[in-house]
Amino acid sequence: DVFYRELPKVELHAHLNGSVSCHTIEKLISRKPHLNIEHGMTAIGKGQRRTLEECFQVFKVIHQLVDSEEDILMVATDVIREFAADGVKYLELRSTPREEKNTGLTKKRYVETVIKAIKQCKSEGVDIEVRFLVAIDRRNGTEVAMETVKLAEEFMLSTDGLVVGLDLSGDPTVGHGKDLLPALQRAKNCGLKLSLHLSEVPSQLEESDLLLNLPPDRIGHGTFLHPEVGGSQSLVDKVVMNNIPLELCLTSNVKGQTVPCYSKHHFKYWYQKGHPSIICTDDKGVFSTDLSQEYQLAASTFGLSREDVWKLSLQAIDCIFAPDTVKQQLKLKWAAIKPQVF
Ligand code: 5GP
Repeated sequence: DVFYRELPKVELHAHLNGSVSCHTIEKLISRKPHLNIEHGMTAIGKGQRRTLEECFQVFKVIHQLVDSEEDILMVATDVIREFAADGVKYLELRSTPREEKNTGLTKKRYVETVIKAIKQCKSEGVDIEVRFLVAIDRRNGTEVAMETVKLAEEFMLSTDGLVVGLDLSGDPTVGHGKDLLPALQRAKNCGLKLSLHLSEVPSQLEESDLLLNLPPDRIGHGTFLHPEVGGSQSLVDKVVMNNIPLELCLTSNVKGQTVPCYSKHHFKYWYQKGHPSIICTDDKGVFSTDLSQEYQLAASTFGLSREDVWKLSLQAIDCIFAPDTVKQQLKLKWAAIKPQVF
């Protein structure tokens, strides 16, 4: 539907290597034919579902394909252009800095390369504002988390405001948030905004409670926070009292089987509460989706009018990590586009 494509949108939850399109994967496969990787291994098609564990296997395959500066530059510029082509006007990309011995890639070069891609798209006149969140993979433990924060801190101070925050992600069944608290606390103290994956699986209540005390600036998924799915009222109260927006990814959660079907997605719970709920893609490549489709799915599943959908995309502006000047510019843009969309 053209309405959803033309709707100006904000994307706040997009993992770089999960966002790689089929088209880019093809280019990567042709660069590395010896890996014998096929398409079916990097994306989950329509109607298909995987366990969360299987989803994490998919990322390993993509990481094999994306292991040099050259790959990262191509992947990041392609992803940014694709989001722009889908009507996304403001994008926060997140990615875990990786070191690859065989190509000489370092974590620092990794971040520099993503920044270079952002600047390149800007200089080409691609109509999108992009910021970067440095990601901590929880699997890697306390020390790596602290190193990652220091790296993010360095870049925050040196890259004209392009690095705005920190993400905590990775397999939710591995590791414990308490081990990462010092790193997260440091990040917060130095002015990095925090977006944390919380309660993506049911067994994380205690961890969520602990991490909510920081408190984070946004929550990724938060699938099992509310009492109807085994969470608790006190967790909900913490989220509401601190007015922490939720980044909600319908297709990702259904395909990853943490949510049984679209109509049971926790978007409904939080949206009905009037709590800031932001529609996001998570991994548009891996889950074969885009942000227009996700808005359309939310509208058709939960009976939202076009005016409701407009408000959802407009409200997402208030949840971005870039400063107020950027928010104001985006609101002007929305106002200018509105008559063309309705
Ligand atoms: P990258 O950080 O390499 O750009 O993107 C892929 C990584 O993002 C994965 O290895 C994983 O750490 C993280 N990621 C992507 N999607 C999800 C998700 O749905 N849940 C969690 N917890 N982590 C994810």
